[in-house]
Amino acid sequence: MQVTNLLRLRTQFVCALMLSISFVSNAFETESTTSSLNPNAKVAIALHGGAGTISKANLNAEQEKAYRAILEQALRAGYRALQAGEDGSVAVITAIQIMEDSPLFNAGVGAVYTYDEEHELDASIMHGRTKQAGAVASVKHIKSPIAAANLVMTESVHVMLTGGGAEDFAFKYGLEKVDNSVFNTERRKKALDSAKAKIQANEQAFFANPENADYKFGTVGVVVLDLHGNLVAGTSTGGMTAKRFGRIGDSPIIGAGTYADNDSCAVSGTGHGEYFIRFNVAADICARVKYQDKTIEVAANEVVNQVLAEAGGTGGVIAMDNQGNISMPFNTEGMYRASIDTSGKVTIGIYGSEK
Ligand code: ASP
Repeated sequence: MQVTNLLRLRTQFVCALMLSISFVSNAFETESTTSSLNPNAKVAIALHGGAGTISKANLNAEQEKAYRAILEQALRAGYRALQAGEDGSVAVITAIQIMEDSPLFNAGVGAVYTYDEEHELDASIMHGRTKQAGAVASVKHIKSPIAAANLVMTESVHVMLTGGGAEDFAFKYGLEKVDNSVFNTERRKKALDSAKAKIQANEQAFFANPENADYKFGTVGVVVLDLHGNLVAGTSTGGMTAKRFGRIGDSPIIGAGTYADNDSCAVSGTGHGEYFIRFNVAADICARVKYQDKTIEVAANEVVNQVLAEAGGTGGVIAMDNQGNISMPFNTEGMYRASIDTSGKVTIGIYGSEK
């Protein structure tokens, strides 16, 4: 009996020792990844502002200029944060918030309408080092859904909060509360009115028709490689025009619309969310990099232009591996996109012809 007690005591001591060693080594790990920068470390950023039927015929010169300007503004703001040595999550949030505040994109102000003429916003973020993630879905009064998703990641024990629960949580942490009408724009209201007319004729046909991709484009997303070697991905959206209230798309679903893993890649998607969920698009791309040793270019193209396209899913992704290599494939006519690679080269594109 005494021997058993002694053994138990010894085991407890050894466990406590191991715990404290792992605590100390974790502390060192955190210390080294946040404070000592590798002078040769490189940063990279890629972002999207949605994929869809975007052609020169649908955009006049002035609109095109406005899109390019805001893409570049968001890109450079995120890049500056990376260069300053901020964690990748700061760069992702900074760039996404610029697009959430712009009426040009389907995220924050400018979000599409539900069939019931409201806005229900979804967002998520994932950190590739910790594999921690946060998401909010169907929120109506949070000015910056990506900031709320980040709070879920850093301050809660959960990964996803929806509706009133997400809002209550975000407001307790001081996020700005707004009336749902703050997200209103005339352009999206017109899109809703025309969608409703088609849906009344045939709801299934409306959502299945790839030509109706226009009714949702504008979701925003960012992927980065920070100076500490971390990949981070984030996505924010209003979803699909005329969606049923309560509908949740891929954007807040980790693995579907957003994924980041320092061992493989970071991805943010945009397109027909139901397909991205069913084909687990973001995680599938990273799995191909991780387990099949595929390059980011091959992995992202396979999933977007083969798996998704063959199933009838329209959309695109921005993807980055842990060396900062970038791939931005889409199977739609266009995708608002921009990137700065590890050599500092800036790319801004809208149409398929610019690939
Ligand atoms: N993926 C978004 C959703 O289905 C929409 C989009 O990216 O255009 O909610």
